[in-house]
Amino acid sequence: MKFSKMPYNRVDKDKVIADIEELKNRILLATSGEEQFEIHQNFYKIYDEMQSDITIASIRHTIDVTDEFYSKEEEYNDEIGPLLDHAVAEYYEVLYHSKYREYLEEKIGRVAFKNIELKLKSINEEVLPLMQKENALSYDYSKLIATAKIEFDGQELNLSLMQPYMVNSDRDTRAKAYLAVNKFFESKAEELDEIYDQMVKNRDEQAKKLGFSGYTELGYLRMQRNSYGRAEIERLREFVKTYWVPLTAEIHESRRKRLGVDKLGYIDNGVYFLNGDPSPTGSPEEILETGAKMYDDLSEVTGNFYRFMQENELFDVFGRKTKRAGGYMTYIPRYKAPFIFANFNATSHDMDVITHECGHAFQGWYVSKDPIIEHNDITMETAEIHSMAMEFFTERYADWFFGERGDDYRRQHLEDSICFIPYGCMVDEFQHIVYDNPSMSPEDRKKLWMDLEKQYRPHINYEDDSFFSKGGFWQKQQHIYTMPFYYIDYVLAQFCALQYFIALKEDYKKAFEDYLNLCGLSAKEFYPDMLSKTLLKLPYSEGVIENLSNKLREFL
Ligand code: ZN
Repeated sequence: MKFSKMPYNRVDKDKVIADIEELKNRILLATSGEEQFEIHQNFYKIYDEMQSDITIASIRHTIDVTDEFYSKEEEYNDEIGPLLDHAVAEYYEVLYHSKYREYLEEKIGRVAFKNIELKLKSINEEVLPLMQKENALSYDYSKLIATAKIEFDGQELNLSLMQPYMVNSDRDTRAKAYLAVNKFFESKAEELDEIYDQMVKNRDEQAKKLGFSGYTELGYLRMQRNSYGRAEIERLREFVKTYWVPLTAEIHESRRKRLGVDKLGYIDNGVYFLNGDPSPTGSPEEILETGAKMYDDLSEVTGNFYRFMQENELFDVFGRKTKRAGGYMTYIPRYKAPFIFANFNATSHDMDVITHECGHAFQGWYVSKDPIIEHNDITMETAEIHSMAMEFFTERYADWFFGERGDDYRRQHLEDSICFIPYGCMVDEFQHIVYDNPSMSPEDRKKLWMDLEKQYRPHINYEDDSFFSKGGFWQKQQHIYTMPFYYIDYVLAQFCALQYFIALKEDYKKAFEDYLNLCGLSAKEFYPDMLSKTLLKLPYSEGVIENLSNKLREFL
């Protein structure tokens, strides 16, 4: 089904809740595991339908934030979301306490039942109003960012469209672009502080109402951390400070020489070459077509996937002023259809869409015939391996997109992937400290950010910017507001993707087969067990980060 033809019906909240309630009662009356599993099939239908409509509304809202109809639908869905979540959680609670649990675990999976346990601990009726308020605050932040209008170069641009100017080969242009963007953030500073302050206090209150000492613990449960915890993450960050920050310092030093500057400033962030970063040679339409050729060449299964996406209008990737910023991949269960949203802007970022977002979409499509929907419940540190590893598997085709600058693209991509890691850890450590100390003032939070910058990114010089030098950088980072504790998942995944980078240099075919195997394992296994069935090693295990940093040095 083509996306434009997909029907949309507003979720009838009362009916859905009543239907789920009825299934719950039938589960309670059932006299065997087989019967309960049979009833559970009806739950799958209700859930898939509801999820499909919510997803379609959300996509149509983001592809045109000025569309009033879908903007209202999105608001409505945000409002009813916690109520539906609650009904679903109550249903799963009954399943969780089933007499026939053993049979159900065999059918649905141990991971699913562990996740139910986490879910039950992370929500109750008392926190529903707070969760609704939290959603409204997220919406406020996203809207503030999405509707940013920046006067630049005689045009009015949104934040995505400003991005190319911020990595422009001309240093003056970059400086002006940063100035314009930061002026916007400064003009909204109070609002941004206020939204975040309310969010932190709201989340802390939810945690306390649910019996936790603070939000961090609850945040971990909501991220579905079912097989590792704070101790592992803290260990990971220490390994990064010891082995990874020195590696990135070497990369930044060679980048500094390449750019011919005395000192790297924030305006050189993400800039790798004096003649500018490689950008795709083709038009947006050509990039999409080259993607088709690439996935055909990569393997039969990836070729089939890409054709499915194109034939069903499942890409909305061309930049328009009325689209939300950023990019994402989502999934519409009713049509077993992944959907990719992006804003092409004629930078190497466009290639990321064809590789990264397609990696997510490919995995969703690859396992779409699995009838157990709980297996789609993939945690983010795993989902991001699918995407980030695909970036490395497709790197060999960079010349098709970047012409003579294919090698430059590969260098930039590798350096960028490695240098992202300290930033990701910084975002994570920031949130741990913020939620451990919910009464911090907005000024304290900014000071904290500056302190972390010195530990993780000592090469950046912010001194001449009035927004950054006060520690405002994190306010651009959507995840800190709307997806707490998500960011470290990118770090965990990047370590795995980089392991594939090393593996594919040794044996491409073997590495790709291993990747397909990983895609298929999805949420059937706990993260450490899943990795043990692939060639990947757990990033927070002793020696893994150190070893990887040494191997990467050889390639740099
Ligand atoms: Zn991703």
